[in-house]
Amino acid sequence: DLDPLPPMTPEFLSVLNKVCEQCYTDFAPDELEVSVREHILRDLESFVRRQFPGARLQLFGSSKNGFGFRQSDLDICMDGNCIIIIESLARQLKKHPGLKNILPITTAKVPIVKFYHIRTGLEGDISLYNTLALHNTRLLASYAAIDRRVKILCYVMKVFAKMCDIGDASRGSLSSYAYTLMVLFFLQQRSPPVIPVLQEIYDAKKKPQVLVDGWNVYFFHDLKTLPSCWPQYAKNTETVGELWLGLLRFYTEDFDFREHVVCIRQHSRLTTFNKQWTSKYIVIEDPFDLNHNLGAGLSRKMTNFIMKAFINGRTVFGTPIKVFPPLYPSQME
Ligand code: ATP
Ligand code: MG
Repeated sequence: DLDPLPPMTPEFLSVLNKVCEQCYTDFAPDELEVSVREHILRDLESFVRRQFPGARLQLFGSSKNGFGFRQSDLDICMDGNCIIIIESLARQLKKHPGLKNILPITTAKVPIVKFYHIRTGLEGDISLYNTLALHNTRLLASYAAIDRRVKILCYVMKVFAKMCDIGDASRGSLSSYAYTLMVLFFLQQRSPPVIPVLQEIYDAKKKPQVLVDGWNVYFFHDLKTLPSCWPQYAKNTETVGELWLGLLRFYTEDFDFREHVVCIRQHSRLTTFNKQWTSKYIVIEDPFDLNHNLGAGLSRKMTNFIMKAFINGRTVFGTPIKVFPPLYPSQME
């Protein structure tokens, strides 16, 4: 049971909004870093082609989805008309003078080779035939392009997850991708909604089918025409600060994790019972691979830890205070 929040003040909301905007301006990469990433990609592609002539490398994840941080990892997908064996890819990468810490991981659902790019200090991994990831990256990028508040909130969420130590899937919590889906779901369910359900917009009678690995990856991406295709376009006028507090309250006060699924592919509520996923408390459905629950790997303990972070966040961001601590030590002068 949650303590009721004291009344919000316009002054506090305005500071909250500034803090959110600041997250974005402080952490978003500049144009230079974007082009550095493309450059590394092209260099790696020509290098691996010595061994695998038909290979193609593509960036996905936060290098491309609009929610990248200055030091985000490089997510690279490798495919092409050639047979790629993860161990021989790793052997080839070990010969590259600009890389170190080459580590093939063959036991994961999607096999990858990890590496460290010496000159930039960026970490990266190359996954093989990770086609769905390319599509969900495009989906996320489309949502990011609809409204700048989407972008800012996803940054705020990622900063929050990192600060609370709940955002590292390799250490048993949830991936950035999972938190991004939670933000998008909230923005779709907000009243009026900030973003539509792109997978539910189409002019034909029936949803178009674009099959990849057996899943339908169709979504509406002609964003120029969205204002005429989606009646609620631009109806929501809340500030980022209001939405951030709204999100924390939504996941702590309204959303029933026991019963409902975080699901961005349809507007109507999907239940854990529908999915036969009742044994888990945080259930996040992948928008394309409908058999994939991003919360499947969470332990009971980690689930509680994540929920506590949201509950504390609700109190901290929902309780107006008069005197603010300095954001950075330099501001104390
Ligand atoms: P960060 O800036 O923290 O690296 P990111 O947006 O790149 O954030 P990641 O968690 O690194 O997010 O994920 C990169 C991509 O990998 C996602 O866009 C998604 O396609 C895929 N991915 C990550 N985690 C999962 C997962 N648990 N299941 C399926 N796909 C995932
Ligand atoms: Mg990443």
